[in-house]
This record gives sequence, structure tokens and C-alpha cells, in this order.
Amino acid sequence: MIDPAAAATVESLPSRVQATNLSFFYGDFMALKDINLSVPENHITAMIGPSGCGKSTLIRVFNRMYDLVPRSRAEGEVLIDGENILDPRTDVVGLRQRVGMVFQRPNPFPMSIYDNVAYGPRVLGWKANLDEVVEHSLRQAALWDDVKDRLKRSAMGLSGGQQQRLVIARVLAVEPEVILMDEPASALDPIATLKIEELAQELKKSYTILIVTHNMQQAARASDFTAFLMMNEARYGELVEFGPTAEIFNRPQNKLTEDYITGRFG
Ligand code: ATP
Repeated sequence: MIDPAAAATVESLPSRVQATNLSFFYGDFMALKDINLSVPENHITAMIGPSGCGKSTLIRVFNRMYDLVPRSRAEGEVLIDGENILDPRTDVVGLRQRVGMVFQRPNPFPMSIYDNVAYGPRVLGWKANLDEVVEHSLRQAALWDDVKDRLKRSAMGLSGGQQQRLVIARVLAVEPEVILMDEPASALDPIATLKIEELAQELKKSYTILIVTHNMQQAARASDFTAFLMMNEARYGELVEFGPTAEIFNRPQNKLTEDYITGRFG
């Protein structure tokens, strides 16, 4: 269900992540060109667009995942809490704690359910009561009731949907501000997919969420705002249109957006 607040103009909402003239390169190849985007706080923003247009690249810029890709670089500015996170002096470990990420394939660590969730706080050396952190995070991820009697058992024994919620609990345990989700439900069945969508609706009360999805229905029913990206003739990924999801799907301003959401290409 779309949040009625999303009907407000984007500009009137506080932004949590703000990209200005952001371009991104893999070696000599420019994957994204001049992206300007303000991601509204405490809402769900979906990234849609044809394969290869740069959706994953864009969200990976927001927690500097690209640092792991040789010869890649970003230009422009990405402000999070007023700090340009593209600055080489950024504390990347601290950034990834604030901006957590969930991938397409659930990737629990090969350890117990408990240890998966406790992993981040332990690495960060937090002195909090771990039992409480683990329970709270699992409750937030709507997984506590499923696993409370088998916390010491391997995470690998959980279903795909449960594993994905466990990964979300692991992200929540380090108290992020932003959660990036790269096709978080594409490996899951329809029931598990709906659970992830419902969970995202709950989580947006406390977090800012960005979801990359190929699933138009998912974007339409589960997000408040939608960003449509596309490759231009020169094969650079560009942001074609961004706005409240209901507007993008019902009254797109750009012909390219309309063609894409009505299935005319892509
Ligand atoms: P999909 O929907 O298929 O997942 P996407 O919109 O998320 O695609 P990206 O994965 O961000 O697109 O890729 C954007 C462009 O950057 C593509 O042309 C892709 O081939 C290229 N690319 C992505 N990762 C790398 C990499 N590690 N090295 C070089 N080029 C890359």
C-alpha cells in the first residue's frame, strides 16, 4: 500500500541520501551519468529500469561497495548526514554500518542464527547486551517467532525467505539509517516475497529503504517513490524520472517511463 504521505512533493520531504551530478565509471566505461536524486527519509524508494541501466551500480555507490571493484570511480557528490561519502577520507566501515545492504541471494554466514545477528555488534566491539540486540533485531525482521527455539542452530537450515529475513536482522543489529536492497525477493516464492514487502513497510518507520527491483508490480505496490533509470544512446545510465510511485505509474511525465512501465520495451 502506498503511503499517502508520498503524494506530497519530493522536495517537501527531508532527504536521507542526496546525489548531485553523480557519475560512475568502471575503468573507461561510464555506467552512470549526472545522476541527481534526493532519497526521502523514512520512505521506500524503488529503482526500476531495463537490465544494465545501472540500478545496482547506483545503490552500491551509496555504501561505497564499488571500492571492491578495481579501476572503478565515482564523480560528483553523495551527501549522507551532510557528509560527502565519496570523499576518500570517509570512514568506509562506519559508512557501511550506517548504510546496510541486502543482496538478491540470501547470504547468511555459515554459523548459528544467533551468531549471524551478533556478528556486526561483535566486530564493532559494541558492549551492548548481545542477547537483547539479537532478540530485538530478529523481532524487527519478523523472524523471532520462527527461530526463538533454535538460535544456536545453523542459519543454513532456514528456508530462503527466512534466510533473507535473517540477513535483514543482521543488518538491523548494527543500527543502520539506510537499508539498500538489491532485488531482495527475486530468489523467493510469492509468499516469502510478500513477507519481505510487508517487512519493508514496517521498517520504513525507522529506516530509509532503497529497493532495486525488476518486478513492476512489486515497485507499484511496495514503494512510495520510484526512480526510473535507462541507458541513453551513448549507453550511459541516466535517471529519466523520479517521483511518487503513484505518479510514475499512473501519470508518467516522460514517454520513456510510460513505454517501460507499460511493457513496450525492456
Ligand atoms: P540488472 O538489472 O541486469 O541487474 P542494473 O541496472 O543493476 O542491471 P548494473 O549491474 O548496475 O545494472 O550495471 C550497469 C552497467 O555497468 C552494465 O553495463 C554492466 O555491464 C556494467 N558493470 C556492472 N558491474 C561491472 C563491473 N564490475 N565491471 C565492469 N562493468 C560493470
